[in-house]
Amino acid sequence: MKAAVWHDIKDLRVEEIQEPNVSSGQVKVKVEWAGICGSDLHAYSDGLSLEPHPISGQKPPLTLGHEFSGTIVEVADDVTSRQVGERVAIEPLIYCGECDACKRGYYNQCGKVGFVGLQRDGGFAEYVIIDENMAHVLPENVSFEEGALVEPTAVSFYAVRESKLKAGDSVVIFGAGPIGLLTLLSVRAAGAAKIIVVDLSEERLEKAKELGATTVINGMRDDIVETILGLTNGGVSVAYECAGAQPTMTHAVASVKQGGQVMAIAVFAKPIAVDMGQLLFKAADITSTLAYRHVFPEVIDMISTGRLDVKPVITKKIELEDIVEEGFNQLINDKKQAKILVKPSNN
Ligand SMILES: [Zn+2]
Ligand SMILES: [Zn+2]
Repeated sequence: MKAAVWHDIKDLRVEEIQEPNVSSGQVKVKVEWAGICGSDLHAYSDGLSLEPHPISGQKPPLTLGHEFSGTIVEVADDVTSRQVGERVAIEPLIYCGECDACKRGYYNQCGKVGFVGLQRDGGFAEYVIIDENMAHVLPENVSFEEGALVEPTAVSFYAVRESKLKAGDSVVIFGAGPIGLLTLLSVRAAGAAKIIVVDLSEERLEKAKELGATTVINGMRDDIVETILGLTNGGVSVAYECAGAQPTMTHAVASVKQGGQVMAIAVFAKPIAVDMGQLLFKAADITSTLAYRHVFPEVIDMISTGRLDVKPVITKKIELEDIVEEGFNQLINDKKQAKILVKPSNN
């Protein structure tokens, strides 16, 4: 079968690899659509760990892709919860099931946590092997395209659920990439009143407006914080940091009101400074989330009932053969793109 395999930094190859087989407790999924994520770009440009993952035992070369949907085409003999023919969205976490965090149900905090598509062969392939409990059934009215958006939506939705946001609150979102946009949809669904979005790209801000931002601010301006404080009578309840940079974190801390909260969702590539004095003076808090746990069914329900319309976040659909040029390189160079979906097979 065809797959997009990571060999080395900037060396992603679409090549023929062996079709995988199911083992105990696993299902085989024919992938319909797979989204390209910021962490795929990070793996592409900066590299992956070359050590074998403690749970999957796999190390590069491996197939990328952790945001995907598909159809179950085979199940192992002992699988009882899933059936051939079911349309599913994949929850790609890998965890041990035995450590303290796992035993308490906090599987996203497993000491050995990993991802299908980063530490085990993933969804930029015709077929993927998945543990039966990580394949979530899609209702008829949720398309495979929307199914591929369930994973990144779960990241944002979980962060919003874990944040202090209450209906009627005002919020600011720093960063209008896919996670920022999906956070925007989630805070809207949760009842935020004013939703301010800050980004450096006018095209991304345009998209944020289309998705319901009440105010957009270009991050090049030097009065970002003053503007936010002015619009919100002294600060927002929650600032969502979806950019992962020093200036955006500094602005986030400065933008929250007394007792407010900074929720860090983005991955920070290097350590940054936080003005603790400012946080302390406002008795505000700063917190973070890693991925998600126990929310895929809710996210699928939110999409199915129309509470979260994720379709506008998809800006382009491509074939697997074109993934490097039309997918990865385009996302690195063209800020107009939000989510690009890849179709691994034509049949
Ligand atoms: Zn991702
Ligand atoms: Zn564990």
